Amino acid sequence: MKAQVRRMIADIESEVRYTRNAIGKDRLSADVMRVMAEVPRDAFVPDALKSMAFENGPLPIGHDQTISQPYIVALMTDLLQLDKDDVVLEIGTGSGYQAAILSRLCKKVYSVEYVPELSHAAALRLQQLGYDNIEVRAGSGYGGWAEHAPYDAIIVTAAATHIPEALLQQLKPGGRLVIPVGGPYSYQELVLVTRDEQGKTHSRNILGVAFVPLRESATPYDSETAG
Ligand code: SAH
Repeated sequence: MKAQVRRMIADIESEVRYTRNAIGKDRLSADVMRVMAEVPRDAFVPDALKSMAFENGPLPIGHDQTISQPYIVALMTDLLQLDKDDVVLEIGTGSGYQAAILSRLCKKVYSVEYVPELSHAAALRLQQLGYDNIEVRAGSGYGGWAEHAPYDAIIVTAAATHIPEALLQQLKPGGRLVIPVGGPYSYQELVLVTRDEQGKTHSRNILGVAFVPLRESATPYDSETAG
């Protein structure tokens, strides 16, 4: 393992220990940590920021958006408790990094990104890197992606003021949903929602986080500019 990757893994492990009371565990799943060490984060950040790619912080990816902090990516992935046969929905593809991590732990990832330029760049990047079980779509994911529902797990990587009803409806019994909930650029909490076999949902607040806002409309970007 490269020295900078080893340092990123150590930084994630130490932040996990530091937040053990909130997250209720001392360490994340070994599979999640293995995949964090394998997926090359430097391939997902802009050229000018490559030297910072393995630091444990978010980085700008253009269009006022960010690639999430490695610790948060690892934690959210861990909370989803993925099985290799799972089908996963991600809202907020951004750079495609989180989708790449998920794809190594499940059967198929469907990911929706609002900003068409980011969506197209992520789709191309993922294809060039050989991640062939991820489908990326440009548009709003506020209403989920009904065509491939229901999902074993759903991850939202932008902060919502409330949990969108459509996402709950597209979650399988036994499924897990991870979503930051809170006002734009104000206090947000990472929430884990589980749906039991009877269809009843249970939610648990995990810890305070800072995400860019989820656009809460089902209206896509102007399709003329989507290219
Ligand atoms: N998961 C990303 C980080 C995402 S940042 C990564 O690994 O790089 C959050 C992303 O959510 C942004 O790219 C933003 O454009 C997108 N977003 C915001 N509202 C959205 C919506 N309603 N539907 C789909 N994507 C949305």
